[in-house]
Amino acid sequence: MAEPTADPATEPASEVTLDEIVALCKRRGFIFPSSEIYGGLGSTYDYGHYGVLLKNNVKGEWWRSMLMERDDVVALDSAILQHPRVWEASGHLAGFTDPLADCRTCKQRFRADKLEDARCPQKPSKLPGEGPDCDLTDPREFNLMFETNVGPVKDTASTAYLRPETAQGIFINFKNVTQFARKKPPFGIAQIGKSFRNEITPGNFVFRTREFEQMEMEFFVPPAVAQTWFEYWTQERFDWYVRLGIRPGLLRLRPHDADELSHYSSGTSDVEYLFPIGWSELEGIANRGDFDLRQHAEFSGEKLEYFDQEKGEAYVPHVIEPAAGADRAALAFMVDAYDTEEVEGRTRTVLRLHPRLAPVKVAVLPLVSKEGMPEKARVLFEDVRRRLPAEFDEGGSIGKRYRRQDEIGTPWGVTVDGQTLEDDTVTLRDRDTLEQSREPIEGLGERLAARLDEPWASPKLG
Ligand code: ATP
Repeated sequence: MAEPTADPATEPASEVTLDEIVALCKRRGFIFPSSEIYGGLGSTYDYGHYGVLLKNNVKGEWWRSMLMERDDVVALDSAILQHPRVWEASGHLAGFTDPLADCRTCKQRFRADKLEDARCPQKPSKLPGEGPDCDLTDPREFNLMFETNVGPVKDTASTAYLRPETAQGIFINFKNVTQFARKKPPFGIAQIGKSFRNEITPGNFVFRTREFEQMEMEFFVPPAVAQTWFEYWTQERFDWYVRLGIRPGLLRLRPHDADELSHYSSGTSDVEYLFPIGWSELEGIANRGDFDLRQHAEFSGEKLEYFDQEKGEAYVPHVIEPAAGADRAALAFMVDAYDTEEVEGRTRTVLRLHPRLAPVKVAVLPLVSKEGMPEKARVLFEDVRRRLPAEFDEGGSIGKRYRRQDEIGTPWGVTVDGQTLEDDTVTLRDRDTLEQSREPIEGLGERLAARLDEPWASPKLG
């Protein structure tokens, strides 16, 4: 789906551009265009060191909220390749399509229902179909699933699909989980993993790619309480982003109109963030009814029900699904955290990330590379890193090193200087306020680790 653009007359606009985020990601090694030495492969990206750490922290916080902080959700990691009948049952084989139109002249392909957001490559650029030479085909339905073959023979019997969502892997394991995890509704199964969609118009950096990571949870409930749980999860997922520092004014809940709803869904709400491309979906929360379990029961011949001992009857649970994207969430956290300010006549770029999301929590820096400071700093670093992700950086001027840490969002800088050698204290620099305080080395790692559990709000809120 092509993304909307913000209307500056009616909406607040993001204060950062996507180009600034892309440049920072490249400069600091968060995310690179994939296969770059071969000229790139459109809209695919590789995560570098800090990108991996950031995205891992996003996924870690999701797991924390789903598993560690509650006892009614269990984890799953299902296979990417599944039996082709899964996609028949789920409806993806027949219906996971976008309308596609080809131009016979320029050979470009466009989403036929989004022509107004596309550009014809012929110059001067017009909308596809507008120019005198444009020759668009009638729209045809294009299935977004990637097809592959399992085994050495390439025939229709070996056709399989890369999963376009992680959810179906959960539904097909419903029976296993109820039997072996001894869970009864209301309970959930959560999964994080790669999904693949052959999007016709990917773009906007990692917002829409053909290979991405999803964080999905299917919550199985007695039908009578489905609406209550739908409302609960909608609010809970909105609050998760706020707890991790996204400014609430740039987040909104958008209930789907009746004509947007899937035929099986009685309610869907999107959590939207004001990205530089305008308000766009971060996550969808859907009340899916009993559609999925019924479909898989019919196609597999297995009973997918829960037997309620108290009532002495079996029923098919209804499902509430919060479905988020790890890449999109990481992008939103970066966009929301990105800030620039003038400090002593120079522009400072800083990622004001929630400390729990920051790739590195503490930078340990010897003030200069002599007088025993690097050695002293190294000992401190070895101690701190046992408790927190830390980085030791002794190269270049201290100002340059601070700027580097600011750009990767490191909340605390610890500098070992001349005084440290005398009294075992260090300078602790705060990323956001730039305040510097003197701190004893003794117990520093524990004290900083404890700060990670404190409530936090974006300093950009003022
Ligand atoms: P959209 O309307 O943006 O295409 P969707 O409604 O098809 O998204 P879902 O199928 O509900 O998305 O998937 C759940 C989440 O997975 C989305 O909210 C998004 O965060 C993420 N996601 C979906 N498609 C992509 C993609 N092509 N690239 C990156 N993330 C994606």
